[in-house]
Amino acid sequence: MRTAVIGGGAAGFFLAINLKELCPQMEVTIFERSQHVLRKVKVSGGGRCNCTNTFQDMRDLAEVYPRGHRLMKRLLKGFSQHDAMNWFQQHGVRLTIQPDHCVFPASQDSQTIIDCFLREARRLRVDVCTCHHIESFDQLSNYDFVAVTVGGISSRSLQKLAATPGALIPQPVITPVPSLFTFSINDPQFHELMGTVVENATAFLPGTKFRASGPLLVTHWGMSGPAILKLSSYAARHLAACSYHAPLAVNWTSANEETVRQHLLSLAGRHPQKMATSIRPFDLPARLWNFLATRTGVTQKRLAELSRKDLNRLATILTADTYTIASRAPFKDEFVTCGGVDLASVNPVTLESKYRPHLYFAGEVLDIDGITGGFNFQAAWTTAHTIATAIAATANSSFLADTVL
Ligand SMILES: Cc1cc2nc3c(=O)[nH]c(=O)nc-3n(C[C@H](O)[C@H](O)[C@H](O)COP(=O)(O)OP(=O)(O)OC[C@H]3O[C@@H](n4cnc5c(N)ncnc54)[C@H](O)[C@@H]3O)c2cc1C
Repeated sequence: MRTAVIGGGAAGFFLAINLKELCPQMEVTIFERSQHVLRKVKVSGGGRCNCTNTFQDMRDLAEVYPRGHRLMKRLLKGFSQHDAMNWFQQHGVRLTIQPDHCVFPASQDSQTIIDCFLREARRLRVDVCTCHHIESFDQLSNYDFVAVTVGGISSRSLQKLAATPGALIPQPVITPVPSLFTFSINDPQFHELMGTVVENATAFLPGTKFRASGPLLVTHWGMSGPAILKLSSYAARHLAACSYHAPLAVNWTSANEETVRQHLLSLAGRHPQKMATSIRPFDLPARLWNFLATRTGVTQKRLAELSRKDLNRLATILTADTYTIASRAPFKDEFVTCGGVDLASVNPVTLESKYRPHLYFAGEVLDIDGITGGFNFQAAWTTAHTIATAIAATANSSFLADTVL
């Protein structure tokens, strides 16, 4: 029996290797359209490959998988982050866990993961055919099983892969849009704060439910950091619909407005003679506090001179400081596609297409995407392993039937 894996990326290699391990008689071929395989793994995590996450202290998978969390919850029971970590260690990749729960190869080099995949593929005799662009089933007539692991699809490739007769994706696809990006803000004065980091800020889109907390970094083009990346992921579709032009608000303190007002009143009571600019409420970076105080018009005042109106304006700017997102800016460390093969169109246990038997989808081509932190690779490992197990079960029972006959 033969399996074709379309796409020589993270999911494709993991699927092919696991399938050969579970079903050694299977002939497995990976078709990769470009000259080189595993290119995203190479650049991932800034060249270190954040290959998974411990998921420690996680309350709800929806926090890390804005799309696909229900299916991931089910599939992780079959192949979890712990299984992935064990898999890598058993295949010669030592891992290290950071205090933020992100998992990397101990070598801090993505090449370690690539070397492991190439070594295992060679050992198990997986065929790897580069420079093979597969667009339809006409090219795959000799295969019993086909696994599509082509990664995040652009709207352009979607037209080729999904809209033609005999298409590789013969089923509904949720329109792809980008996720995990930073925001450009057209405000030269704000850009002067470049390099400022606020450890626990909350960024939100006023009038929507979208909000995200964490470190926020001011850049020379606008805002970045975990809070912004998470917000871009949660609101990926909303922001695409707004053409990446939308109001944005920041709570620099993560406390509510009344708490902030009381904190300012208490500071004024304790240090009435201090200039407003010489305090640093909530340990905010001095440059940021000066910027906010200037915009509120209180820089020349002592704390005792702050009127109720001044205090209210300060509390508002500290908790709902508004900007306008001018456009989407690139995030060089990670970038994924929101959208892809509609999860309702695949069997949730095997990831087999409901539209064509023996056709499967794994990795980013599915409508599953995560925030930064190793969650996207974990989705690739989990979905790929699910398919390897499903194909192996079908093939092994058929091999067994042949033997008995
Ligand atoms: C810069 C960057 C850094 C990242 N860092 C991290 C990280 O540290 N941690 C993390 O969890 N996630 C990270 N990600 C996300 C992660 O890389 C992806 O989620 C993951 O690679 C998806 O794996 P995949 O196999 O589904 O797709 P890919 O890795 O994209 O592989 C798909 C492969 O299919 C090939 N292909 C496409 N179409 C065809 C076709 N028609 N025929 C044949 N071949 C085809 C492509 O050339 C490609 O090689 C990062 C992403 C980027 C862009």
